[in-house]
Amino acid sequence: MLSTDRRAPQNGVQHSGLEPLYREVLRRNAGDTEFHQAVREVLDTLGPVFERRPELREARIIERLCEPERQLIFRVPWVDDAGRVHINRGFRVEFNSALGPYKGGLRFHPSVNIGIVKFLGFEQIFKNALTGLNIGGGKGGSDFDPKNRSDTEVMRFCQSFMTELYRHLGEHTDVPAGDIGVGAREIGYLFGQYKRITNRYEWGVLTGKGVGWGGAQGRTEATGYGCVLFTEEMLRARGEGLDGQRVAISGSGNVAIYAAEKAQQLGATVVTCSDSSGYVVDEKGLDVELLKQVKEVERARIFEYAERRESARFVADGSVWAVACDVALPCATQNELTEEDAVSLVRNGVKAVAEGANMPTTPEGVQVFRDGGVAFGPGKAANAGGVATSALEMQQNASRDSWSFSHTEKRLAEIMRRIHDSCHETAERYGQPGDYVTGANIAGFELVAEAMLAQGVI
Ligand code: NDP
Repeated sequence: MLSTDRRAPQNGVQHSGLEPLYREVLRRNAGDTEFHQAVREVLDTLGPVFERRPELREARIIERLCEPERQLIFRVPWVDDAGRVHINRGFRVEFNSALGPYKGGLRFHPSVNIGIVKFLGFEQIFKNALTGLNIGGGKGGSDFDPKNRSDTEVMRFCQSFMTELYRHLGEHTDVPAGDIGVGAREIGYLFGQYKRITNRYEWGVLTGKGVGWGGAQGRTEATGYGCVLFTEEMLRARGEGLDGQRVAISGSGNVAIYAAEKAQQLGATVVTCSDSSGYVVDEKGLDVELLKQVKEVERARIFEYAERRESARFVADGSVWAVACDVALPCATQNELTEEDAVSLVRNGVKAVAEGANMPTTPEGVQVFRDGGVAFGPGKAANAGGVATSALEMQQNASRDSWSFSHTEKRLAEIMRRIHDSCHETAERYGQPGDYVTGANIAGFELVAEAMLAQGVI
């Protein structure tokens, strides 16, 4: 079972010049621990840029980047099938629009609060910049739990959520998509309500739509596929590939399922996946079609997979990262891979780790991978394929066009290669060869910073 209770250390950032800024972030965002962790991780790598670029210091670019442009919190009342009234809380953090309209998913999960949404929105700024596709950063969601809710309850919740959110959205303003707990079903209900309220068929206002009504072929697969393509690039940079590697994956949602599919297409054997009730080990390699049936079609728990597959066993306690592997792909949620897990992976000979989820590795875990010489792809870079394909969906919507699956997949592969190369080259340029965390943070930051500088103090 995964636990997300670990907290980021509150001690200072690596460059003393950035310390007052970090203290101010802590003061202004008291209690938002995941946001502190995300900011700290970026600030820890920006010291050399801070040194080399006095004009960015004078324009207070980093300070402005750490303060969202707009934060929305709203009430979401809805009625369940038994006629009971429920009240949830809705969030949208429009973090930075220097490069384009705010873009980032909606998460429906009981753990969602403003701190989680801020951390995700902050990460999204850099990730979206890395895609090279002119999209700003934002994120949203609700503490609503879609698990064990009927379709009509989910529909009523989505309609109520959109009844407030619609006034802040628009294809040139803010374009949400899915995330944990928000898939094709939820996007459909959200889009329907937006259309009904505005009386506009505005394709570009949401991404992740159904393929028959403005969605992009390949968007469902994009985050998981992209993560594996990024992993392949990291391995290639070390003279290896995925063929023949043993892969461990956490989660069994959208990202995990398609990461497993692509890894196996490239010749790897994926031996694990999980959900919040435990994990399965399948030494023969996951049967991805069975996994889709259990998780996507039946929305059942992961032990059902093990019950229907002879080669698989279900483990209710302990960590999925105790399973030996060459490549680890954490694809569930934040802070799910701890220092202890990282030590166990390194001891078992892991060569590459790529984050399909957002910030799944704790800072201590990342340090263990760095010290152990493991190729480590941070989420900002490794899972950027999802939002990149969302931007491709927006392009298709704007031109009233619809591309084939293979065309989108080819574009995705090019984008992931470009992101990899940009992180790799930037890390070298700043004297940290092979450090994808530094590379991703600085490469993303530079793109946003130039645009902010050009657009004046706003
Ligand atoms: P899904 O809702 O489809 O799946 C999430 C998976 O993670 C489920 O297996 C879920 O298990 C598990 N999980 C979620 N929260 C927890 C928790 N607190 N503890 C234990 N397990 C948990 O979400 P996605 O696959 O879309 O997203 C997974 C990650 O990838 C997230 O970090 C998301 O932000 C990130 N991401 C997603 C993108 C996308 O395109 N979908 C794009 C980029 C990043 P259970 O069902 O038991 O809760």
